[in-house]
Amino acid sequence: PASTFSVDLFMSDEQRQSRTLAGCPVTRIGITGLSGAGKSTLITAIINHLENARRGALAEQAGLAAIRHGRWHREIERAFDYDHALTALTGQPPSWPESTRDWSIARLTLDYDRRWYSLRPRRRCLELFDYPGEWLLDLSLLDWSFAEYSAHWTDWLARSPRRAIAPGLLEDLQAIDPAAPVDPEQLASLAGRWSMMLADSRLPPHRLSRNLPGRWLMPGEGFDPDAMPFLPLPSVVAEPSEDYPEGSWGEICQRHFAYYRDRIARPFFESHFGRLDAQVILVDLLGALRSGQSALADMRAALESILEPFRYREGHWLGNLFTRRIRRVAIVATQIDHLLPVDQARLTRLLDSYLFELTQRLAGKDIELRLFAVSAVTAAQPREDARGRPMLVGTEKSSRQKIAFTPPTIPEQMPHDLDLAIDDLPTLAPPAELDRARAFPGRRVDALLDFLIGES
Ligand code: GDP
Repeated sequence: PASTFSVDLFMSDEQRQSRTLAGCPVTRIGITGLSGAGKSTLITAIINHLENARRGALAEQAGLAAIRHGRWHREIERAFDYDHALTALTGQPPSWPESTRDWSIARLTLDYDRRWYSLRPRRRCLELFDYPGEWLLDLSLLDWSFAEYSAHWTDWLARSPRRAIAPGLLEDLQAIDPAAPVDPEQLASLAGRWSMMLADSRLPPHRLSRNLPGRWLMPGEGFDPDAMPFLPLPSVVAEPSEDYPEGSWGEICQRHFAYYRDRIARPFFESHFGRLDAQVILVDLLGALRSGQSALADMRAALESILEPFRYREGHWLGNLFTRRIRRVAIVATQIDHLLPVDQARLTRLLDSYLFELTQRLAGKDIELRLFAVSAVTAAQPREDARGRPMLVGTEKSSRQKIAFTPPTIPEQMPHDLDLAIDDLPTLAPPAELDRARAFPGRRVDALLDFLIGES
């Protein structure tokens, strides 16, 4: 912790919105992605890079070269647990940091070299706001009515693979008469099947992204999905009504949905989103590629719905929330150390063609959208086998055995129908001998930082 810098423990809303922190200009960056995308590992790597700015790879990056030193502050409310993450990564044996389960803030001060015309060294503050991507997905339901919510889910549940993930669930929901009195036992049982469907959709082999409501999977502190359950009701879609008898399925599900939307999901965006300067969205593209077409389609649809508000014209409250401040958005494919260097470069181009329409639609909207492929902490090294063929070596995560594997070859173009899949990949343990005092081995973390905070 820095002794020269006083950190406010409890910030008022006004302070949260302010562009300075204790007189220091602040850049606030949201970092999110679905569970397992690599948020906590990337944040740990970013802090580590900035702490080691002068010694590490950053020095070669034009925009960041002037950083003399980065200091991390642990005394703020809900500080990102950097100490804990470092202990894991640098332990014997090393393990990955704990995944993000709620929001937290990592705050750093960056001291830059003095400019030739200035007497004092320059200082900037950086806040990394880490939160589950599941919550960001709730952005799409913020302006839905209960009937619209039900319509979306009726459509999704009718299609493969969700239809097979939850056999009979759509039919059972369709059979509910919204005007009939609710049966609490049936509601609890359906809500249980609902949660299981969401959890199964997220996991391999499906790896789907649109698992709304986001807090069913990632509740965060103070939220209990069982306390006010609601389900989409397909039969309200044809005849939406605001007026179901008290105690009916329609009345209860609609009321609980509205509570979730207006009292749980929306306040999160209002209090945190309006103050961000930039947003990083991590995507497990390699994971989606392992699951193939439906995972790729669902992930892209999720990204489109998340970024939709950036296109809204002024006047729409969602648009106001966003466009006021967020100017830079980075979509980042993670864990590319599972690929050979030549395929890492191809993955960036693949991401480009995968999201081509989305980036075109956002072009010229006063938002700079950039795509990256990074590895936060490189855990595999390229080698050649006895016959000179390239492969990767690393340590397998659960067995802790050294393994060599032939990584998949990545094409440069995403097929139009997204019909592309790669073989499974091993799960690796972090490399041995990571040291806090040296920048961790990574790929393109510095380029990402340069985009987010570099001085042009
Ligand atoms: P979060 O849930 O988004 O916070 O994701 P984590 O940072 O916890 O990462 C989830 C898992 O992905 C980790 O436990 C690792 O197995 C893996 N992972 C994350 N970053 C990297 C990386 O840079 N390289 C490799 N090989 N694996 C990573």
